[in-house]
Amino acid sequence: MRPNFEIIEQIFQPIPGQQVQLVEAPEYDVLMACVRCGRCLPVCPTYQETLLEIQSPRGRLALLRAVEEGRLPLDETVEAHLYHCLDCRACNTVCPAGVAIGESIVAGRAAAAVQRPRPWWLRMLLEKALGSPRAAEWAAAPLRWAWRLGLIPLLRYLMRGLPRLRDLLDLAPRPARPVRRELEHRASPAEPRYRVGFFLGCVMNAVYGDVVRASVHLLEQSGCAVMTPPDQVCCGAPQEDQGLRETARRFARRNIAAFEALGPLDAIVADCAACSGFLKEYPQLLADDPEWAGRARAFADRVRDLTEWLDAIWPEDLIPIAEGLQLTYHEPCHLSHVQGIRRQPRALLLRLRGATLHELPDATRCCGSAGIYNLTHPEMSRRLLERKMADIASTGASVVVTANPGCMLQLEWGARRARLPIRVRHLSEVLAEALSTENRKPPD
Ligand code: SF4
Ligand code: SF4
Repeated sequence: MRPNFEIIEQIFQPIPGQQVQLVEAPEYDVLMACVRCGRCLPVCPTYQETLLEIQSPRGRLALLRAVEEGRLPLDETVEAHLYHCLDCRACNTVCPAGVAIGESIVAGRAAAAVQRPRPWWLRMLLEKALGSPRAAEWAAAPLRWAWRLGLIPLLRYLMRGLPRLRDLLDLAPRPARPVRRELEHRASPAEPRYRVGFFLGCVMNAVYGDVVRASVHLLEQSGCAVMTPPDQVCCGAPQEDQGLRETARRFARRNIAAFEALGPLDAIVADCAACSGFLKEYPQLLADDPEWAGRARAFADRVRDLTEWLDAIWPEDLIPIAEGLQLTYHEPCHLSHVQGIRRQPRALLLRLRGATLHELPDATRCCGSAGIYNLTHPEMSRRLLERKMADIASTGASVVVTANPGCMLQLEWGARRARLPIRVRHLSEVLAEALSTENRKPPD
């Protein structure tokens, strides 16, 4: 066999080392930890769809490394490749070298945003509309009225010849009444077992108020006094996802201070997987801030996703009854891959007496929602959604349960597109319904 001189030449090429220092860029040592084994490729949804190295975790790390070695500029092309990533972190879960792949890609976006500000409309949306819970409520109000007046189905019909607009309307959720004010004035039970601070995500409040009501009901049924600090804001995950790291830091500091004001807490609970995942990342976000680093660690130590907290404290005599319910469970990426929470949601669903849980094939694969990915990358998002809906249909379940608002919006859209007779529910809704008055006592 003749030696392949090209490969030999590549192998013995000197590694130039880090030549470029960029603000917010990922650590060069982290990028160098990739041993290029390829284990992350088959689990990456964008690689699965395209089979392109540049659309894989390893390819994205190589891009970032080329930037820091001065072989590539951090220009629009590199930036676009970084935004093709869903930040689902499936790669992190399997990487034998423990490379923080998703975090590095998001850091690359932040470094790019320092050089080229993100579009003004995106900054308006993420900094202003999500900068206060009231602004997010106002932003959702026209949509609520459009639904009430029957305009959304009418607009959908009128836009049937304009697929992009029609898709946007199809995605439009039907917002429930916001829940923030109710929670701020809610009285605590007299002798609670736990004092819990409740993190009210902006989408949960503005769109899924009824889910939050169910979550708070479950916490109270489990012996918690639930306190919702009025000064909290968006967790910062959408801003971090879009490279606006300084805004994410500003929101993090506000949230830490808001929960510190509640005094000692047993837990800070969120019923949105993306929020709980990002709240746990505050220590990394504020690591270089001497005033806030320690406070961020103390805060993050208390954060629990609703599913992990409920599983830990659920009273044995509380029996949810859901006779004949056929369920399947879609795992949000930010619950399974970011937080490693896989057992607890299933354990809670298995408490439903009379219900059957059908395992969803490849349940941790991203549904294509990924923040605003379904708006910025509609084609890839739709391909992932179609695969997910086919898997859901194969289970024969009539209800698909999840624990993240982004997944709920996406799956509701997918069910409408595929005309699947399936309901999308948050885990809290299913449990709270099964604990309704007539179901509270177990049958003899
Ligand atoms: S699994 Fe980890 S070490 Fe292997 S190629 Fe992917 S990032 Fe590199
Ligand atoms: S975060 Fe998800 S989409 Fe991005 S590289 Fe990793 S597996 Fe692929």
